[in-house]
Amino acid sequence: MIGQETIDRVRQHASIVSVVKEAVRLQQRGRSLVGLCPFHKEKTPSFHVNPERGLYHCFGCGASGDAIKFVQELSGLSFVEAVRELANQAGIEIVEAVDASERKQQAEARRRHAELFDVSNAAAAFFERMLREHPLRFMALDELRQRQLVSTSATEAVADALQAFRVGYAPYGWNELGQHLSKLGFSSVAAETVGLVVARKSGLGHYDRFRHRLMFAVTDLQGRVVAFSGRALAEPDAARLRELGHDPPDASKPREAPAKYLNSPESPVYKKRETVFGLYQARHAVRDSGAAVLVEGNFDVLSLHAHGIGNAVAPLGTAFTPDQAKLIRRFTSEIVLMFDGDSAGLRAVFAARDAVRDSGLVGRVAFVPQGSDPDQMLRDTGVESVRKAISASRGMLEFLIDSTLDRGFMTDDALSRASKIRAVARLLAEETDPEVRAMARHYADRIAERLGIADAPTFLALSRRVRGALDRESPPGNSGANPERPLSPSQARSPDRRQAVGMEILGSVLDHPDLVQMPELKEATILLEGDLAAAMAALGQANIGRSASSIEQFLAKLPPSIHAFAASRLAAPRYEQLGDARTVLLQNITKLRRLEQLRAKHETMQALQQAAASGDFDAELELLRQQMRQAQQRHGVGER
Ligand SMILES: [Zn+2]
Repeated sequence: MIGQETIDRVRQHASIVSVVKEAVRLQQRGRSLVGLCPFHKEKTPSFHVNPERGLYHCFGCGASGDAIKFVQELSGLSFVEAVRELANQAGIEIVEAVDASERKQQAEARRRHAELFDVSNAAAAFFERMLREHPLRFMALDELRQRQLVSTSATEAVADALQAFRVGYAPYGWNELGQHLSKLGFSSVAAETVGLVVARKSGLGHYDRFRHRLMFAVTDLQGRVVAFSGRALAEPDAARLRELGHDPPDASKPREAPAKYLNSPESPVYKKRETVFGLYQARHAVRDSGAAVLVEGNFDVLSLHAHGIGNAVAPLGTAFTPDQAKLIRRFTSEIVLMFDGDSAGLRAVFAARDAVRDSGLVGRVAFVPQGSDPDQMLRDTGVESVRKAISASRGMLEFLIDSTLDRGFMTDDALSRASKIRAVARLLAEETDPEVRAMARHYADRIAERLGIADAPTFLALSRRVRGALDRESPPGNSGANPERPLSPSQARSPDRRQAVGMEILGSVLDHPDLVQMPELKEATILLEGDLAAAMAALGQANIGRSASSIEQFLAKLPPSIHAFAASRLAAPRYEQLGDARTVLLQNITKLRRLEQLRAKHETMQALQQAAASGDFDAELELLRQQMRQAQQRHGVGER
């Protein structure tokens, strides 16, 4: 624990101007200094530093604080870490809190940690040197060359990236590193604690964990090496090994292939769920570009950095954790997920969603071609294609919705389609960001569009019909035997109109009672309501035309509202010819069906509006689905 005295001294002596100047170009304006804010993107300076008060404030994003806060925010350090950093810079001696035993414990813990950082750093330096000197280094260089990451032929960026990630070679053999570290005076306990060496089962001595591997160093946010990741290399030639004084493995014995990637175990200085690979190296680029690009593998990070995409980071062989998200959130509010283009990558996007959202990050997803990854993409199509994919990244929610509906959605049966729609509804419902929620309406439309793909002609025809109908109302007086004539929405919804069409249907059948057997009519009868339905039912049972009494019985069963009409039609048929009556009947049946469909559509639309207004996504999605079904039925396609 740092004593309050030290904190006060740091506050007193740390110059806000000199601290800020490290990161921001300041210009005098009046009594304060101004510059471009390092915490948000801007073109005109709104970041003010007040030397008298020792404070900074940004009028653009509202960031403000003192020197300690500035260091914390800019470097992603904790309060204590920032105080230590400033104390070191200002040459202030750090006096620990007064409790003597606690002070001793703290000092001891720091000494132990310092030894762990030191031994890790020594190992990193050793691996780097081996990549320059070891006789088998060419095998590690081959691996780098395959990925176009050789510094001799390459640009400065490649050399910088190799250096920044402390890429090295862990030599062949069992205790090359162990011996080197003990020569430097490190205890085997320290080397074992950070997992560089492993105790032999016999209890005698240790052996190197990383052997004949291409090595990456994992650093914490202060740039200290805390762990390693090593990639397996091909087995060297046996003759060459003997030459170098190693016993080649017995070729007659079956040998397990080494794991492709081997990582340091966790230690007092390394918690993989709380460490983001590359964040130390990427932190300035993340802040400057306004986003972090999250990739899956160490090689992806290294390759992107080597090709000038310096804001790439990776989780360390775990799913993206809330702690990792929070670390990134210290530097930016936006994260672009660029995972492998396979089903595991897709699952990883789904798995990352909670961590992204809960940390307050805005998540986006960049497209990676099927079967590829960012490193592969760089080699296949060049760095520009990766940049394009990043800049064309889509909102995470949008991506998740689309990939839910993409996977065979159109060929699915109704049941699994419904379950996918429910999954999408859940995605929407889980969204807590008010802005994203406000966009839910847009996403819902997108879903409707997507559903509409199955039946695009219907959708088009329908919208044309409605637009056309709005432009020209049907001429008055023409009750209309032409079913193709567009109907206005109000006509479609009018019960009078349905009633009139229903009467015409009944009339045709009364003209020629044999028409009652037409299958089309049976279907239309279901759509009739009230008195008309009763009349049609009675007509079906009456067997009219066989006898006069049957007509009397029929008329007696009719509701009063229909009686006069039926009597007149029976008395004086409008269509003498059966063929004419039949044609008109079919036209009116079509018309009735369309009216019914438009009415259902209208009802669904109203319910949709209500559901949208009340934020009931489940209901809204169910209604959208219903709407699609109705559209399909209007054109006699799809499920019934
Ligand atoms: Zn700002």
